[in-house]
Amino acid sequence: MLIYEMKLQGTQGQYNQLDSAIRTGRFVRNSIIRAWIDREVKSRNDAYKYCTKLAHNPKFPWAKQLNSMARQAHAERAWAAIERFYQNCKANVAGKKGFPKFKKYQIRDSVEYKTSGWKLSEDRRYLTFTDGFKAGTFKLWGSRNLHFYQINQIKRVRVVRRYDGYYAQFSIDHTREEKKNLTGTQLGIDLGLNHFYTDSAGEKVDNPRFLRQGERKIKKLQRRLSRTQKGSQNRSKARNRLGRAHLKVSRRRNDWAVKLAQRVIQSNDLVAIENLKVRNMMKNHKLAKSIADAAWYRFREWLEYFGRVYGVPVVTVEPAYTSVNCSSCGEKVVKTLSTRTHQCPHCGYVADRDENAAINILQSALRELATTLGHRESHASGENDLCLVEETQASKPTRGKRKVPQ
Ligand SMILES: [Zn+2]
Repeated sequence: MLIYEMKLQGTQGQYNQLDSAIRTGRFVRNSIIRAWIDREVKSRNDAYKYCTKLAHNPKFPWAKQLNSMARQAHAERAWAAIERFYQNCKANVAGKKGFPKFKKYQIRDSVEYKTSGWKLSEDRRYLTFTDGFKAGTFKLWGSRNLHFYQINQIKRVRVVRRYDGYYAQFSIDHTREEKKNLTGTQLGIDLGLNHFYTDSAGEKVDNPRFLRQGERKIKKLQRRLSRTQKGSQNRSKARNRLGRAHLKVSRRRNDWAVKLAQRVIQSNDLVAIENLKVRNMMKNHKLAKSIADAAWYRFREWLEYFGRVYGVPVVTVEPAYTSVNCSSCGEKVVKTLSTRTHQCPHCGYVADRDENAAINILQSALRELATTLGHRESHASGENDLCLVEETQASKPTRGKRKVPQ
């Protein structure tokens, strides 16, 4: 699935209609959560049925105005939230289970259409909404070209409201596959604090400067917002400025993550990365940390995406002991956070702390792959023919030497 995004240009009256559609989408979602709490809705099918009921209820004339498939899409959103809660309960996830919440009004929100309720113009430069809200025709602004795809490949159109305007996201049913030549290299990546990451070949990538700059700007605007009076005109202006600043950082971060991830995937045959716990990441309230975390998260998402595009496996490993263990001999070498070099008293291996961790990440990824794939093999044949006549002695690790994949 590809997602293209374009800005919608229309009149204030048209934007107001989009607001109504977004509000109604939220209304459908919240109504279904309410009905679920009241035990009226117990399955996805019930949720669909409830949608129809809402549309025929004269008390909510607006529900009918939203395209019927869009109503369904929002019922699906509600049900997805409920299902996630059930799954967390079943898996007995520690901490909060994510009981579905009612969504309140916020600037950043969206309404989702499926394959009806909208129409693209012949030249694909205009988008018209055809449901009961009559938002009309918008000009599309963006660098992407929708000409390349068939209309029936567009499975969803989502209208996203942001601090700086309204956008249309087109989900296009298209699997992107690109040819890549083998490079003969595999890479382990250790995400860090001092650097954005350090890889198993010893290369470091620094945090981009704009994250720092963005952090300063956001802090300044946050202070300004807190000085304004509640409900005042100045407050909503300040909030808008802050929202835009966040938006700017997240866009630049995304652009940066895309380029970096694509480069990493194109120059390796396998990439190993730590499995970051998003739950733990989001708990952090420190601004600098949250900005960096978001960058990592994005980077990983793009790695996985390009991995699929170029046919490069992206293996995630649990981050346990990756910085403690010696990547040469496997012994534990405990270090404090301030110790930047890994110095192994057991085998004499010396390396940058993060590089050592990155090598560990790559090694455990390969081991993980080897065991999961091997497991499948041994199940296929009942007998085990792998019987070593003469067990070869595992050679002792040589001092400070290592095979580095070229
Ligand atoms: Zn060692």
